[in-house]
Amino acid sequence: MSLPSVTDFSQELDFECQVEKVSGFGLDTLAIRTGINTTHEGEHSEPIYATSSYVYKDSAQSAAVFSGKEQGNVYSRFTNPTVRLFEQRIAALEKAEAAIATASGMSAVMASCMALLKSGDHVIFSRDVFGSTIFLLKNFFEKFGVEVSYVDLTDYEQWQSQIKTNTKLLFCETPSNPMMHIADIEKLAAIAHQYNALLIVDNTFCTPILQQPLAMGADIVIHSTGKYIDGQGRCVGGVVLSSQEIVDKVIAFMRCAGPAMSPYNASHFIKGLETLSLRMQRHCSNAMQIAQWLESCPQVEQVIYTGLSSHPQHALACRQQRDHSGIVSFKIKGDQALAWKMIDSTKLISKTTNVGDAKTMVTHPASTTHCKWSEEDRARAGITDNLIRLTVGLENVEDLIADLKLGLQAIA
Ligand SMILES: *Cc1c(COP(=O)(O)O)cnc(C)c1O
Repeated sequence: MSLPSVTDFSQELDFECQVEKVSGFGLDTLAIRTGINTTHEGEHSEPIYATSSYVYKDSAQSAAVFSGKEQGNVYSRFTNPTVRLFEQRIAALEKAEAAIATASGMSAVMASCMALLKSGDHVIFSRDVFGSTIFLLKNFFEKFGVEVSYVDLTDYEQWQSQIKTNTKLLFCETPSNPMMHIADIEKLAAIAHQYNALLIVDNTFCTPILQQPLAMGADIVIHSTGKYIDGQGRCVGGVVLSSQEIVDKVIAFMRCAGPAMSPYNASHFIKGLETLSLRMQRHCSNAMQIAQWLESCPQVEQVIYTGLSSHPQHALACRQQRDHSGIVSFKIKGDQALAWKMIDSTKLISKTTNVGDAKTMVTHPASTTHCKWSEEDRARAGITDNLIRLTVGLENVEDLIADLKLGLQAIA
């Protein structure tokens, strides 16, 4: 049993991200050891290749690499060894044939859509996907003649009734933000495949540690890697994972359009993957304890966490995910003023809207992440003025509960 693509620097580098089919290794081992490119210096930690261009022995080699006859790096908008290592590692975790890293999660969405859609095509999105994803489709792709339908994530009859012969993509996030709705990935894949459409799953909230959509029939997985994969809120990035054939189409767009991942950011994501599994365990267990505690608080009307048996899709989440991730939403008994008071009365927890940081964060979705939604859309999605979202970090859970207690006491 050998680890995937352990390349000696003196050997020719793989031009494309090529992950050998690996079996037998656990996710933790893959996260730490996939694709190590030890150079002649013998460094143990993965180097940052801070270079935009690459040198050749002579003109003949330069010509061979540029024409594609010989494998090699051309320019870091195309390939960069640090970025490639990140691609190999995340591909091993998602059990994907290939991966292409992007400058942000949104450029992963954009590059997939640009590569796979043309004027006259139809796509179906769940309504509660990341806000910028909706804006990208509505404000730009529709302008170029792509037809977009929006459906409720968990209403399979709506997905089924919207699909038609020119439907090319179905796109969902599961769990969704901030209401933690869960889509049955196998069901959506079956609906998509009736018409040869592709199912894209944004797996940012679960990460491959908790959920592997490709194994359940999804065709493409995308991530915003600046969330749990970085895990410490340092930088922005994204990745598209799929078959080699589909990733090649995305690569063709990426190379000329240029939203490439920086090697500096790739280095953070490589190191993030090494501890992802341990961190996810702690995010999940802290979130579960906080969710259970919130459920016992008299000031709380409802707690939304798929780990609780009170969540309507608890059983599906248990079947589809290894654990329930770190996002806990809850509704207080009261209005926006009391929700703000609760948030503002905490001392330790950061008032910010990111996801997946070691530091616990609290958000009022209706007035921040979802403030551009119409009141009607918010009401339909359940994003009420008394809703608060926590993305639970890695601190001692007793300290987090004590801090939340300060908030709830202020509105008692
Ligand atoms: C943050 C986020 C995105 C967008 O990613 P960026 O890296 O911010 O461009 C997409 N999907 C989900 C679920 C996210 O949380």
